[in-house]
Amino acid sequence: MSVIYERVALIGLGLIASSMAHAMRRAGLAGEIIGTARSPETREIAREVGFCDRIVDSATEAVAGADLVVLATPIGAMSAVAAEIGPHLAPGVTVTDVGSVKRAVIEAVGPHIPSGVHFIPGHPLAGTEHSGPRSGGAERVDGRWCVLTPEDGEDPKAVDRLTRLWEAMGSNVDLMGVDRHDLVLAVTSHAPHLIAYTMVGVADDLRRVTDSEVIKYSAAGFRDFTRIAASDPTMWRDVFLTNKDATLEILGRFTEELFALQRAIRTGDGDQLFDYFTRTRAIRRGIIEAGQDTHEPNFGRSAVASVGAEDEAAE
Ligand code: NAP
Repeated sequence: MSVIYERVALIGLGLIASSMAHAMRRAGLAGEIIGTARSPETREIAREVGFCDRIVDSATEAVAGADLVVLATPIGAMSAVAAEIGPHLAPGVTVTDVGSVKRAVIEAVGPHIPSGVHFIPGHPLAGTEHSGPRSGGAERVDGRWCVLTPEDGEDPKAVDRLTRLWEAMGSNVDLMGVDRHDLVLAVTSHAPHLIAYTMVGVADDLRRVTDSEVIKYSAAGFRDFTRIAASDPTMWRDVFLTNKDATLEILGRFTEELFALQRAIRTGDGDQLFDYFTRTRAIRRGIIEAGQDTHEPNFGRSAVASVGAEDEAAE
């Protein structure tokens, strides 16, 4: 495949940035990839893993001469990074991000983007509970969706170019309205993560009563919650603080449904439970038919769980 951007600057060198770099290299999509991260330790690991052509010490150095700048830090850091690089961005450059929430990123980053620079927010649904520069891989973006949320007036050529990059990296691309993105992701990712964190917290409290049995019998369902609840605390703190309204809306609905099911159990309403579970089972079938998970029993895990399979169902 041919080069789509001559020089790509990655700000932040964790799971998502390293996955992008591997995927760009696999298909030869960037003339040069320059990376930077906050700490010398992470920059050193990134050098060692070798997914960038150059690692530099600051974001301003990284963006010099770049035609694509990718903000791949936690959401809470993006405003400061954008303020730092803003004055160094030349007209015609494209800035994108990979943050899991879009409205908050646009509000944090947008004011620092000079006119003539294309700002095209993005969100690759390519995550796992792992983080850091060693955790990325080109295969993480294969067949996953990347949602772009450009403003109405954005240059279609710039949007098309970024779309081509993601597609050439192996992803499917959807363009979506900003608020729609935040609501959809509150349903499919943010609320489920909060529920998993809560369930694991409850089990942890109970461990005092149940001792090691929570761990011993975890394959009964709890284990899948623990994988999600092992996700990066900084990232997820930022997600909940920045996608507040949509997450609270979904959690409100969740609580209502939970009360309804609680009542069905209390009153012995088996028909209600059966109908509900029949409906939810169909959703699982839809996900498998859409190629977003495996139909294998136990999510395709072997008896000794493989790391790859464990990673499958994350954001
Ligand atoms: P990660 O693996 O924890 O990496 C974050 C990177 O950002 C690290 O290299 C970190 O450097 C760097 N960083 C933090 N603050 C910085 C700053 N002020 N300046 C420069 N670099 C800074 O995180 P990730 O999972 O790749 O997530 C990155 C973004 O992708 C987040 O916005 C998240 O919402 C989004 N996202 C994540 C997932 C997921 O499941 N993980 C999925 C989709 C989208 P140090 O190591 O030196 O601190």
